[in-house]
Amino acid sequence: MPLPDRPPRPQRRRVVESAALGEREQSRAEAARWTCPHGRHAGRGCVTCYEDSAEDDPALHLWEVAAWFTTARPIPIKTLQDIHRHGRGFGLTQPSTPLVYLLSGQVRAALAAQAVAAVIGFLLQNRHVVEAFHVTEIRATHS
Ligand SMILES: [Zn+2]
Repeated sequence: MPLPDRPPRPQRRRVVESAALGEREQSRAEAARWTCPHGRHAGRGCVTCYEDSAEDDPALHLWEVAAWFTTARPIPIKTLQDIHRHGRGFGLTQPSTPLVYLLSGQVRAALAAQAVAAVIGFLLQNRHVVEAFHVTEIRATHS
């Protein structure tokens, strides 16, 4: 509990929520924490969350989201470079490992699960970018 006579300070605590997916099943509590309001696991993405995040409501947290995913087939370099045109400044980069990609973006949402579901929802909306993908790790931060 804060001391009563301490002057109020702006909240600058950085919130980080992350999860590794795929290696083993998430516990029921973990899975629930990462389920968006539409009942989808954030790691699979949610088109409704993606559409909702377009509203840019300043009352909501601005989350920085990172999602690592694998694909069965390589994504062409040109597609990686063109991603900015489709996705509100979302970035798609390839770390050193073959067939592992990093999708990053900023979205406003109440919860980390919604923020991650929104960013991965972008992939669902843009099947010409990635046909099939498997998310291995997710991270959402805001300050
Ligand atoms: Zn959703």
